Amino acid sequence: MHLLNALFDHVLEALRNAFVAVVIPLPFFGLLAFAIKRRQLFEDIRRAIPESRINLIIHFTDAIVVAPLMLVLSVAMGDAFAAYDLLLVPPRLWEGLHPVAVGLAAVFLGDFMGYWRHRIEHTPFLWPSHAVHHSDTEMTWLAIFRFHPFNRLSTTVLDYAFLLALGLPAYAVVINGFVRHFYGAFIHADLPWTYGPLKLVFVSPAMHRWHHSIDPAAYNANFATVFSLFDRVFGTFRVPGVCSTPLGVPELVAQGALTQMAHPLRPSSYRYLRRRLARSGRALRAFANLP
Ligand SMILES: [Zn+2]
Ligand SMILES: [Zn+2]
Repeated sequence: MHLLNALFDHVLEALRNAFVAVVIPLPFFGLLAFAIKRRQLFEDIRRAIPESRINLIIHFTDAIVVAPLMLVLSVAMGDAFAAYDLLLVPPRLWEGLHPVAVGLAAVFLGDFMGYWRHRIEHTPFLWPSHAVHHSDTEMTWLAIFRFHPFNRLSTTVLDYAFLLALGLPAYAVVINGFVRHFYGAFIHADLPWTYGPLKLVFVSPAMHRWHHSIDPAAYNANFATVFSLFDRVFGTFRVPGVCSTPLGVPELVAQGALTQMAHPLRPSSYRYLRRRLARSGRALRAFANLP
């Protein structure tokens, strides 16, 4: 009975937090969209309702089931890094710096890791789970909530391990999480902004919209969340203008939340990987002169 009560309290608190995470940014994004679209906004909202429903179902389920597991995993990772002394940078290095500088460094370094983790998520083995994030065909700021649990796992493990290894203080890790979440929501909003010359430094909503385009010419570009600088340095920057192509992933168009959750569990979702492995096998046999 005690366990059931604790579980009920946990579910209630998780739902309340998830609700707050939607309600607080809502007036900001609503007013911004109205200022730009005026009466067209209501038609756009009507069209985006089915996709937004999927985003919210995934968000509330994540808050109850996935987020607590990620929290447990993060604590365990923190303990392991401390116990086995896996730090690459001594924490005292950060203690001598101003907290604002440390926070900025955490966001910059967090985005560097996020850029490479995102590129890894676009490889054939992780793509089926990351494809869920790309499946929103009417992308709004609520797309920031559409992530498969496997995708949440790769993000938590890789990003957090990197920040822990850097010995960053807890407050800087929290700042990085907040900035990347809210700026992440912002770049998913349906805003026709390319940022002019600032696009060379920061990721604009137009830049990330290209990342979600269904057009094959847009594949494998624009992986950063905050600093477009990383895409420019590593050769994946592509912003030909405002993105007005259709969005989404062909194999997941018009699929509900449950079908999307099952997508990375289906062997057929890894056909790209099988093809690539077969190609590598053929190349290896040819190289070794085997039949
Ligand atoms: Zn992506
Ligand atoms: Zn995205």
